[in-house]
Amino acid sequence: NTFAEIDLGDLLNQNIRRCKYVRPTPIQRHAIPIALAGRDLMACAQTGSGKTAAFCFPIISGIMREQYVQRPRVARTVYPLALILSPTRELSCQIHDEAKKFSYQTGVKVVVAYGGAPINQQLRELERGVDILVATPGRLVDLLERARLSLQMIRYLALDEADRMLDMGFEPQIRKIVEQMDMPNRGVRQTMLFSATFPREIQRLASDFLSNYIFLAV
Ligand code: AMP
Repeated sequence: NTFAEIDLGDLLNQNIRRCKYVRPTPIQRHAIPIALAGRDLMACAQTGSGKTAAFCFPIISGIMREQYVQRPRVARTVYPLALILSPTRELSCQIHDEAKKFSYQTGVKVVVAYGGAPINQQLRELERGVDILVATPGRLVDLLERARLSLQMIRYLALDEADRMLDMGFEPQIRKIVEQMDMPNRGVRQTMLFSATFPREIQRLASDFLSNYIFLAV
């Protein structure tokens, strides 16, 4: 039960070693193989469980395989391949920091965007290109209105702390964001939903956004 036994690729495994991760946590042990197999996933996970790596590793590994996928060439429009939505600036920055360490030297570019900070710098950063976008829902809606940013090539969608996002009133923004993806609930997109609790609203989100998903509680 080590990361080396999971087929994440040499480069990612090197970065995992560099982060001093040796053994996967329970959520990682179960979620990563499911995600690598391409399945949608709804997982029960608390802060501190290692959920960030559980969704970042399969996303980075998938993008490394797909990096040369042809993206449309529309003047100055950026097409991220993965989107990670999280409720707060703090959590988004944490995910961004971790994802950057995990993707070191892979060529996978991670950008973060959150509210409560000037939008112009985030716009400029985005326009330099992005593979994985980590964002809070409100700021992403603003960016979609102002930037040449398209979600049509999103292949991986992770919703982190989904229950908190709904508690904060982000459901309309989340729905608006997912509607801009090429195929809102099926096809090529792989969706992973992480939540500490599973009230009816989260189950509704899962049935709207996930397809044929596996439920994981560890
Ligand atoms: P998270 O639940 O994703 O916020 O992770 C909680 C903390 O555990 C973070 O500081 C991670 O860097 C660390 N962590 C996650 N997975 C592992 C692992 N497999 N081995 C050691 N540390 C880990």
